[in-house]
Amino acid sequence: MHEETRINSTLWTELDNTSANTVNPPLYRGSTVLFKNYTEMCDVDRHQFSGITYGTDRLPTQRQFEEAMRRLEGAALTRICPSGIDAIRTALMTFLKAGDHLLVCDNAYMTGQHFCSTVLKKFGVETTAAPANVAGDIEKYIRPNTAAILLESPGSITMELQDIPAVCAVARKHDIVTLIDNTWATPFYLNPFTLGVDITIHSLTKYICGYSDVLAGSVSANAEHAETLDDFYKTMEIYAPAEDCALALRGLHTLEVRLSRHAESALQIARWLETHPLVENVLHPALESHPEHRLWKRDFTGSTGLFAFTLKSEYKEEDLATFIDHLQLFHLGYSWGGYKSLLTAAKVNRQTNSRYTGKTIIRLSIGLENVDDLQQDLEAGLAQLQNM
Ligand SMILES: *Cc1c(COP(=O)(O)O)cnc(C)c1O
Repeated sequence: MHEETRINSTLWTELDNTSANTVNPPLYRGSTVLFKNYTEMCDVDRHQFSGITYGTDRLPTQRQFEEAMRRLEGAALTRICPSGIDAIRTALMTFLKAGDHLLVCDNAYMTGQHFCSTVLKKFGVETTAAPANVAGDIEKYIRPNTAAILLESPGSITMELQDIPAVCAVARKHDIVTLIDNTWATPFYLNPFTLGVDITIHSLTKYICGYSDVLAGSVSANAEHAETLDDFYKTMEIYAPAEDCALALRGLHTLEVRLSRHAESALQIARWLETHPLVENVLHPALESHPEHRLWKRDFTGSTGLFAFTLKSEYKEEDLATFIDHLQLFHLGYSWGGYKSLLTAAKVNRQTNSRYTGKTIIRLSIGLENVDDLQQDLEAGLAQLQNM
């Protein structure tokens, strides 16, 4: 054996007593996990091995984050996925089979709805939309084969809220699994399990990671559905990269502090926009003017930094560009929940009647910049439109 090879193969055991008690846990990367002896390896086949068998069996880094998220949510089981959209796909595939019908609230994350109408359809699952502000009236959209209802409250871009307990009560009566995308509120400001939801989904990419440099997602289940989720996740051998799990775990430590700043700044800007002469509606659930404000007050314990607004006039693309391209602090880009403020502006297509059909929705993700600077930036931008 070459000297160099011998050194490499024994180095880890020699250095085993050099681990340091760092504040954050060590990062585990790995595909192969070594067994101590042949009996242990055979125990795996006998289902008698309780240790970690392989990288996709979730190394300590994945498990530590999973457990932190599970406790924060009050879930029975949490599993991590490589992105928020993967968490949506995983959750839906876990609980649906060919011949089933899926109901999706009309304002749910568009990419998820696209997955439903293409891939799920291909595998024999039919998806239809329920109104974005659906409540107990969900009953009239249910079919004999409805197996799951996917909620998102407040929902992407147009920010309508569903009456979560009312929907869940109907779903329970019909033995339908309820899932909610809880990315906006995070586990700090909404606990869907206490409202009767079976499954929660998060895009960790947003507030939980918080720095726009990680894609990750989570699916959590109540006790009734934990085993089904665990089995599906194991079968699919889904792998969330260890570095991303470590960054997500790090993000959890500062989440509440960041959120309170996002929330405070967003409310200041939302209230100011309500008084702006060009603004028609500000779509923020914590504002008294929001159509489902009553539900927000009843079910949520806080708001975050993402909201939207509409203008009294519809502008041509080039006119909107004079406003948007004038902004210095708001950047154009997808996703949200990071320290940098972002803006998107587009019309949305809905399958059911929407308050906002034909309206350009300007969505703001309020970052951690000085809030007065952000307000001045918008004021200067909107002044460009005022001069038209
Ligand atoms: C961004 C987003 C997702 C998808 O998350 P990715 O991590 O970007 O895949 C899902 N749901 C909502 C509400 C989102 O905003």
